Amino acid sequence: MSGDSELCRLEASELAKRIADRDVSAVEVAQAHLDRIAALDTAYHAFLHVDVDGALAQAKRVDAGEVEGPLAGVPLALKDVIVTRGVPTTAGSRILEGWLPPYDATIVERMRDAGIVVLGKTNMDEFAMGSSTEHSGYGAAHNPWDLDRTPGGSGGGSAAAVAGFLAPLGIGTDTGGSIRQPAAVTGTVGIKPTYGGVSRYGLIAFSSSLDQAGPCARTVLDAALLHEVIAGHDSRDSTSIDAPVPPVVDAARDGDVSGMRIGVVKEFAGDGYQSGVTARFDEAVATLAGLGAEVIEVSCPHFDYALAAYYLIAPSEASSNLARYDAMRYGLRVGDDGEASAEAVMAATREAGFGAEVKRRIILGTYALSAGYYDAYYGQAQKVRTLIKRDFESAFEQVDVLVSPTTPTTAFKLGERVDDPLSMYLADLCTIPSNLYGGPAMSVPCGLSDDGLPVGFQVMAPVLADDRLYRVGAALEQALGTAALLDEVWRRDHAATS
Ligand code: GLN
Repeated sequence: MSGDSELCRLEASELAKRIADRDVSAVEVAQAHLDRIAALDTAYHAFLHVDVDGALAQAKRVDAGEVEGPLAGVPLALKDVIVTRGVPTTAGSRILEGWLPPYDATIVERMRDAGIVVLGKTNMDEFAMGSSTEHSGYGAAHNPWDLDRTPGGSGGGSAAAVAGFLAPLGIGTDTGGSIRQPAAVTGTVGIKPTYGGVSRYGLIAFSSSLDQAGPCARTVLDAALLHEVIAGHDSRDSTSIDAPVPPVVDAARDGDVSGMRIGVVKEFAGDGYQSGVTARFDEAVATLAGLGAEVIEVSCPHFDYALAAYYLIAPSEASSNLARYDAMRYGLRVGDDGEASAEAVMAATREAGFGAEVKRRIILGTYALSAGYYDAYYGQAQKVRTLIKRDFESAFEQVDVLVSPTTPTTAFKLGERVDDPLSMYLADLCTIPSNLYGGPAMSVPCGLSDDGLPVGFQVMAPVLADDRLYRVGAALEQALGTAALLDEVWRRDHAATS
């Protein structure tokens, strides 16, 4: 690789500064990342589509001074569930192969106006259903820490791109953990903002009452800078909150946790948690106490039912949202011989275009919503959702944030869980409650487990208190020096490809 590849090592805030100071051009920065993608992405498979022309055109606009801002010229990896005008968007599904969206998502517009350079669209589990990217219609992504392991899911492509230095920033979406779990297993930072804090206009819907887009980065400050670009009210999303964006950048720069009350969720420990995960988590909690935070054990008794409720609510909403893939309006069409009925073409297209996990969810959701079972399943799950919200609300009367491991284990091997849906679902055990509640949550690295793989520390905050995540995340990052963990990935790949 050329000497310019050193640019790929820099964090977003540093790159933006150098571009603004004209030490380096945005085009050089984009080209360095495109070269690195060309060299390494055959191994990672983080990208489903690389938009060379679009990236260079946007970089030229930055160099011409047409757009500026704190992230102008910084490259970004965009999850393929966010629509981009004229650029292939599949949501990881064969059913959308060949579809070119006629419009841009709101967050894509906002990033363009801020001078961010979208390099391409990243790999993911089909329609964001999964925890490993193995349900992608285009083959799994690989973890830059160990190519035999998953980078998590569903947003494993964005996380692998960020961890593998193919892009300093990424966008993910999180319905039950798809930003935070990939962040945890790749040693990166990932945030699910408050539901309604970031526009969903142009986010291909999986479970509309839970879906939320958010930032992926290698440092807490970089994530905050991106959060500020994408957040804020959007009249095109009826669930968008019309309130000021929480002061996330100030909180990330400050990182003072003295006097903060930190609640350790009692339910998220014990059997099923890898010992190295528990050890790093406990040390991180002790570190926060050493920085002056007050640590309190908190019980959230209904969190134990979150996974079950989620696997009724999310598939129910998905079964309705995915009805639009009818072979007429988007992408794939199978069996249209000029004589077949519309119903036959629709059935053949859905049979061929959807993968097994998506079909499982549609069947589950249709069942849970059906007349005789609605109250017993969907209705019951909604009641549990209310109880989980109440757990959060009463916890936040005692503490400022709740914390837990992000995921019970480090990155698992590709192939290990793909035939066992329940073990796959368990990867999101700790992340799902925040989606059901609607509050923001972050995963920040807190060290390596005994197996040498990264461990994620989860911070959960009340609705619209996203800044608290960044305060705690920045404190840990500084105290533990975790932003340096990825140096190991950098050294390994650099040696292999230079
Ligand atoms: N892994 C969870 C699921 O399969 C969460 C996915 C997500 O957040 N998009 O539904």
